[in-house]
Amino acid sequence: MLRIADCIVSEHDLSQVLLAGFFCLFAAWTALNLLERVTATRGWSRVCWLVAAGTVAGCGVWATHFIAMLGQSSLLPMSYDPGLTVLSAVLAMLILGAGFALATGAFTRNARPVLGGAVVGSGVVVMHYVGIAALIVPARLSWQPDLVAVSVVLAVSLAPAGLTVLRRTEGVKGRLWAAALICAGVVGLHFAGMAALELHPDPSIPAPRAANGGPLVYAVSLVAGLVLLAGLVSARIDRSFAARSLDEARRLRALVEATSEGILVHRDGRVVDANEAMAALAGIEVAGLVGRPVAALFAKESAVTLRRCMAGADRTYGEGELLSAAGAIPVELTGRQIGHEGLMAGVVGVRDLRERRKAEARIRHLAHHDALTGLANRPLFHDRLEQALAWSRRTGEGGALICVDLDRFKDVNDALGHAAGDTLLCAVAERLQASLRETDTVARLGGDEFAIVQRGGDQPAAATALASRLNAALSAGFAIGGDHVVASASIGIAFYPGDSDDLTCLFRHADIALYRAKNEGGATHRVFETAMDEQLRQRQTVVADLRRALAEGDLRLAYMPLADAHTGTVTGFEALMRWHHPERGPIPPGEFIPLAEESGLIVALGEWALATACAEAARWPGHLRVSVNLSPVQFRHGDLVALVADTLLRTGLPAERLELEVTEGVLIREPERAVHTLKRLKTLGVSIALDDFGTGYSSLGYLQTFAFDKIKIDQSFVRRSHEPGSAAIIRAVIGLSKGLALPVVAEGVETESQRAGLASEGCDEVQGYLIGRPQPIESFAALLRAGSGPSAAAGGARLHGLVLED
Ligand code: C2E
Ligand code: MG
Ligand code: MG
Repeated sequence: MLRIADCIVSEHDLSQVLLAGFFCLFAAWTALNLLERVTATRGWSRVCWLVAAGTVAGCGVWATHFIAMLGQSSLLPMSYDPGLTVLSAVLAMLILGAGFALATGAFTRNARPVLGGAVVGSGVVVMHYVGIAALIVPARLSWQPDLVAVSVVLAVSLAPAGLTVLRRTEGVKGRLWAAALICAGVVGLHFAGMAALELHPDPSIPAPRAANGGPLVYAVSLVAGLVLLAGLVSARIDRSFAARSLDEARRLRALVEATSEGILVHRDGRVVDANEAMAALAGIEVAGLVGRPVAALFAKESAVTLRRCMAGADRTYGEGELLSAAGAIPVELTGRQIGHEGLMAGVVGVRDLRERRKAEARIRHLAHHDALTGLANRPLFHDRLEQALAWSRRTGEGGALICVDLDRFKDVNDALGHAAGDTLLCAVAERLQASLRETDTVARLGGDEFAIVQRGGDQPAAATALASRLNAALSAGFAIGGDHVVASASIGIAFYPGDSDDLTCLFRHADIALYRAKNEGGATHRVFETAMDEQLRQRQTVVADLRRALAEGDLRLAYMPLADAHTGTVTGFEALMRWHHPERGPIPPGEFIPLAEESGLIVALGEWALATACAEAARWPGHLRVSVNLSPVQFRHGDLVALVADTLLRTGLPAERLELEVTEGVLIREPERAVHTLKRLKTLGVSIALDDFGTGYSSLGYLQTFAFDKIKIDQSFVRRSHEPGSAAIIRAVIGLSKGLALPVVAEGVETESQRAGLASEGCDEVQGYLIGRPQPIESFAALLRAGSGPSAAAGGARLHGLVLED
């Protein structure tokens, strides 16, 4: 040790020793930086970086040796054999490069730094002793073997130590320690080697021309320094590029993983990479996919598309089938070429089409089926019916079109809610379907309308039997949300080709038959007959004419007086609608009112009657009241209460002078809603009379359901009042009304004896031809004048016993 220290201190120029040391450290540091690039790259890049590391390290070590040699303060002239000097440098580069290759190689993982380090150390030893061999000096050289051994051990042990530290310690710290250890090995080797060398001057050996120490040191330092610097800078630049491309690669990977589309990267027909989505789709892990032939992942039928996508330079599309672990999956394939790890590779995008296919199937289904019940819809039904008709034209095979409409479906909807209505429709659809043969088609045409085409069969028996079966099936009832709902249907049947072989016409005929079934109370079926068509046509004409009459002001109101049963004093008038048809003459309300109710026109008619009657009555003496008839339909459409209030306001008629006449029909459908409306009407101040009492259901219960202001006994009883039965009913009704403190009016009083009888029974008011026929209000001008005169105060005009002329 002392000998080595003495060699450094006494035989060397210290500044050059420091310069050599610095160079060595710099070289080691640079070489380690380059080594990091070697480990971070693959293929040719790795080879290049390995060459760079070997060159830089060899060059650095050599420069260290050379600068240190030039710093030796020997009295003997010294020079160097150029061939051996260059050889020492080349050997250093080669052996160090090999050592680095070994240290970063693929084999013997853990032994790598030790083996590699040993080779690196050996390279330094070789470089040093070949360098010494290049020395030309007029002296004999002798060696101290122990120091030579020390020099070799230092180099061959410290280099592996350095590379081991480098491997175990991350970052700059590891690199610094490693560089220091390797540097220590190199410097140690050099000075131990130099200490082992003894020069014995020998004048017989010719002295060389002394090497020019100073300038050569600078030249070697400069060149070596530049080489090292270049190495270091390039390593740095590459590392920052690598870091950036690593970031970029991570970002791309994240993007690739974020997509739900499967991605396959392939080269030479085999998978080289894939994303997780692809692995999930195929049911094989990414690692399992890598290396597989791409074609093996897809069905044979997809081969052509797949080949096109794999070869596609630009985006190419196609559809195919992926063979996943769970079975064949329909997929959309896209292909393009990309750069992958420095080489061109193909990318195949694989998009799962299962959801899309499902949606398409659903859309296709929806286009032909009813969304609620799943039955065929109108377009599909028309198509099937057309097919049946075409078949019939070719073969003569007949069949039936059966139109089905649920009775009072709206009531279910109103009473139980729309959800229950929907459930009922679905349940009905199921029962209809269950009643059919395979060749028949049932469809929901909308709302509660269904239709069936029954092909072939022994007609008309087959169709009527089916209709009966359907109604029987519906009458069995349905459990809907805790309620038991009994359904029935009105069914219309038309036959082809008998009734028609035209779709539109056949539908019309079946509808007419259905209309007839509905009109007859529902829960039944009717077969189309030609006469029905004519009747319907007539009805439709009447409705159209009525509509026009209303629009053109051709309707009139007739007024029929009501009088006190005892005194004959007129108390008011009932407004009755009159229509004089331009061709058919007067049409009785009993004929046109039901048609207006069916068509809904009654709402407008009723509005007109109310407004006209109120406006008229407003001009009458204050004690005369006006009665206006309301149809049950008016209770179901629009806001009747608002209409009455508004009419009173506009016409200025005091509410207490208006009486609204309703029949029991109002209370049959939706009684709660009707009672609610009646109560609200009553709060306006108008009175409500129960018209035609004794007809219809004649339920006394209605009298309790709502507090009517008056009962009007139907004229049919009065007309037959001479019959004991009718007289008893009249008596009972009057008695009952008295009990409820309800005034009673008798309609249809035509004779004085009828009036007297009714008066004696306790009837309050009478109405009928005896008192006055329905007339234009002008006919009562005298009466109204009288009523407005002084006698009005005494109880109004008297008509008693007076039958006005028609
Ligand atoms: P209603 O409300 O019961 O009217 C009384 C009907 O009995 C009237 O027939 C009237 O002319 C008739 N009548 C009254 N007393 C006698 C009599 O002594 N002998 C005979 N033979 N008949 C008598 P009309 O005018 O034909 O009206 C029939 C029905 O048409 C009315 O019965 C009413 O239900 C309905 N109606 C009339 N006008 C309207 C209206 O503006 N709106 C509504 N919704 N219905 C109306
Ligand atoms: Mg009436
Ligand atoms: Mg009546």
